[in-house]
Amino acid sequence: MISRTPSVASIPAWQASLRDAVTSSEVLLRRLGLPADLVPVGQDRTTGFPLRVPEEFLARMEFGNARDPLLLQVLPQLVELEVAAGYTEQPLAEESFAPLPGLIHKYRGRVLILVSGACAVHCRYCFRRNFPYSDQQPWSDGGQAVIDYIAADASIREVILSGGDPLAVSDDRLASLVRRLGQVEHLETLRIHTRLPVVIPNRVEDSMLAWLEATMLNKVLVLHANHARELDGAVAAAVRRLRGADVTVLNQAVLLRGVNDSEERQADLSESLFRIGVLPYYLHLLDRVQGAAHFEVSEERAQEILRQLRGRLPGYLVPRLVREVPGAPSKVPV
Ligand SMILES: *Cc1c(COP(=O)(O)O)cnc(C)c1O
Ligand code: SF4
Repeated sequence: MISRTPSVASIPAWQASLRDAVTSSEVLLRRLGLPADLVPVGQDRTTGFPLRVPEEFLARMEFGNARDPLLLQVLPQLVELEVAAGYTEQPLAEESFAPLPGLIHKYRGRVLILVSGACAVHCRYCFRRNFPYSDQQPWSDGGQAVIDYIAADASIREVILSGGDPLAVSDDRLASLVRRLGQVEHLETLRIHTRLPVVIPNRVEDSMLAWLEATMLNKVLVLHANHARELDGAVAAAVRRLRGADVTVLNQAVLLRGVNDSEERQADLSESLFRIGVLPYYLHLLDRVQGAAHFEVSEERAQEILRQLRGRLPGYLVPRLVREVPGAPSKVPV
């Protein structure tokens, strides 16, 4: 028998980074010169949402700083196990808007495809931490049922590739999906919601630009960065390549206590995004998912920060403060 396992050399560098991501708090803390008892032994497992952080993201954390805003986004904490009132397993009840496995049709004119359940990094505040991805895989038939659904509804103008992280999937698969979407006559826009170009910037490689450049659809890519320090030179280079492929690049962030809940940090984020060619889009209030209550910023405080930003930045650098309300016809402005 000839082995069909691809040789190590044929794996793209970003896939190797995904594979080799740090998955143990002990290793992460040791690498940052922090005491191991910051995370009690076994915690990675008890939360059911294990730590996961690739080297490229780890490298942007500050050595010896237990309050580092990038570290706080990924480090499991004991408080996650506390039960908080009003926080549920699945705050958005997305399944009730899924006409097919892997497809969410909640807002008029737009559908969201759950392309991948995997993420490059596990963000502790994420509402998808309890999402039953295994029930939501559209790919058993190569995504054809999803394409057929979109083709049958002419009110759909925009397809959003989401997840998990849609760019965790290979370019071959994405190229095939996007080519078939491009054949649907009433579709105008392809949108990609991803954190990968921030977490592992070399994900934006030639084979990705190839399918982006090949499609006739309008292209929007919404990044997810919460703090200015996530945006290093490699991220800037990735954004430059995307813009070179005619992609409009936006950013969404989540307002997180201890990470970005100040006028200073939000202004710094907006200005740093703009410097690399990205406009802020949404600033989300935290979804009330079980295990994330320690990140909550009150609505009053959020509004105060936004007022300060409006008094300081040009209007196009002030993100829209929104919250998701199950059943609402759009994101709800705060
Ligand atoms: C956020 C979201 C969208 C996109 O909403 P916009 O306001 O257009 O950014 C679409 N579908 C679902 C299910 C969403 O959660
Ligand atoms: S879906 Fe986005 S926010 Fe949630 S864990 Fe994945 S990368 Fe992080």
